[in-house]
Amino acid sequence: MLPNSNGNFTGKVAFVTGAANGIGRATALAFAREGANVVVADISEQGNQETVRMIEELGGRAGASLLPKAIAVKCDVTQAEDVKTALDKAIETFGRLDFAFNNAGVEQKNAATAEIEAEEWDRIVNINLRGVFLCLKHEIPLMLKQGGGAIVNTSSGAGVIGIKGGAAYTAAKHGVIGLTKSAALDYASQNIRVNAVAPGYIDTPMMDRFTGGTSKGREQVISEEPVGRMGKPEEIAAAVLWLCSDAAAFIVGHAMVIDGGQTVQ
Ligand code: NAP
Repeated sequence: MLPNSNGNFTGKVAFVTGAANGIGRATALAFAREGANVVVADISEQGNQETVRMIEELGGRAGASLLPKAIAVKCDVTQAEDVKTALDKAIETFGRLDFAFNNAGVEQKNAATAEIEAEEWDRIVNINLRGVFLCLKHEIPLMLKQGGGAIVNTSSGAGVIGIKGGAAYTAAKHGVIGLTKSAALDYASQNIRVNAVAPGYIDTPMMDRFTGGTSKGREQVISEEPVGRMGKPEEIAAAVLWLCSDAAAFIVGHAMVIDGGQTVQ
């Protein structure tokens, strides 16, 4: 049997953006491990296919009769039509939407505020903030129709403190927390819980780009982490699943910082 620690994931449906890599992939796998069917939505078609393959492999190994299923859907979160089509596909395939993890995001090129090109500002805000809004806009009506759901948005440590050389990313990630709080208030009475996670430095392909993939770059990042290591994508996935579970039924509009103490002052 697949593990099902909270007893409320089997047969449910989770939509995960940025699921072709890093935190999104780890969370898609975690949902599947708990028995949920997963819609793997990312701009990278090849990465989507690989995540689906990993989920299928997981099910095969578990040897359970009620295997979780996964589908890959190409989805650029900056494109409303892509988001709508991906969610339509979720309903068409699985008939419902219980959980959404709005996680797709990109890092900013390091630059002082006045040096950020307007195009770079737009790119970052478009993917990291507007993308989350577009997902909420199309997920919430589906959840309202079926009487509820749980949504988690990905912010960052940069959502709670300022980051030198990262004004666009920091503004977008602070924005995700504001958006999460307002959306949470809008729908709490209709049984939809909206929360956020704010990860610290997590060992993913994004972090490889951020550190330049060098041991010096990694050491610099680790030196900012009080626990003396980077986080693992699975550690964010665990928090996302908990926020989606009935154990978190009274948690609304919260931004959960998961960062090894990085932003604790
Ligand atoms: P990652 O390893 O780069 O994975 C992100 C995924 O999102 C990639 O597959 C990427 O595809 C995809 N993506 C990029 N633009 C997209 C778009 N417009 N529409 C749909 N998918 C898109 O990054 P990660 O580290 O897992 O980060 C996931 C989230 O956590 C992001 O929101 C990030 O800001 C946040 N976060 C990460 C850290 C960290 O330390 N890693 C810390 C705090 C917050 P491509 O690779 O093809 O671009």
